[in-house]
Amino acid sequence: MTMDYQKILQEIEVEINALPDDGTVANYIPELAKVSPDRFGMHLTTVRNEHYAVGDSEVKFSIQSISKVFSLAMAFSLLGEKLWKRVGVEPSGNPFNSIVQLEYENGIPRNPFVNAGALVVVDVLLSELKDPEADLFAFVRSSTGSNDVSYNSVVAQSEKETGHLNTAFVHMMKAKGNIVNEADEILDFYYKQCSIEMTCRELAEAFLHFGDNGLAYNHAGFSLTTSQVKRLNALMLSCGFYDESGQFAFKVGLAGKSGVGGGIAAVYPEEFAVAVWSPKLNEKGNSVRGFHSLELLTTKTESSIF
Ligand code: GLN
Repeated sequence: MTMDYQKILQEIEVEINALPDDGTVANYIPELAKVSPDRFGMHLTTVRNEHYAVGDSEVKFSIQSISKVFSLAMAFSLLGEKLWKRVGVEPSGNPFNSIVQLEYENGIPRNPFVNAGALVVVDVLLSELKDPEADLFAFVRSSTGSNDVSYNSVVAQSEKETGHLNTAFVHMMKAKGNIVNEADEILDFYYKQCSIEMTCRELAEAFLHFGDNGLAYNHAGFSLTTSQVKRLNALMLSCGFYDESGQFAFKVGLAGKSGVGGGIAAVYPEEFAVAVWSPKLNEKGNSVRGFHSLELLTTKTESSIF
């Protein structure tokens, strides 16, 4: 039986609009605070190349930490299992910008999705690639199937001016011997990566490749085996929502990744990828309505991986 995804997305939009108006737009990055809090978009694409959407699904927004999945895919493709000597694969149980564990865990971040871990991943890309920025954009454009993907330099600059904790992570890890490149180069690249702008449709298209085992994963020369894609999905499930990853597995039951721009992208292997955007965040830095929409989606479609 084919599912009427369009009808389900429309129901979700109605139910979401009836919810109390909870959460706050990320304001620690001044440029992100300017985004209209009422935006809501959702796009679902299936392995059969069907597309369903509601709301602002074609509006570009700052993907922020969702970009960490793309840079991780590239670094994993380059280093294979050696990558896990530099960054762990355990949930942190801490906020994405917590520094406490780094001190006593010898500069090895808990996982690639907390900021410290994503900064190590950037360090790997800078060491391994001749033109890492060109490769990042070639990779992201190839995996979304759209040439129209770039970053917002105003957001990147805004983050650079206020990202003191990220600077601290890099220096702490350099002191512990887990960073090779110059702090400034790493931070510049990281802020460009975080300020990439995409639509829900583009994100869903990019994430579908993590859920379609029938197709080889290879974008702009960065390839992953089926087993490596499985590992990326496992990391998204266990670490993709920071200290709310358990709740996301519990309530939604999909591998996914959030960003403080209010986006969430998630995968239901062998069936669909979905992206949702609503800028207001809970205290864990995850989109309130995005989280709730996905809970409604997997409940209505009975599509959790469990
Ligand atoms: N660029 C943001 C930061 O470094 C990413 C955080 C996020 O989306 N969780 O703080």
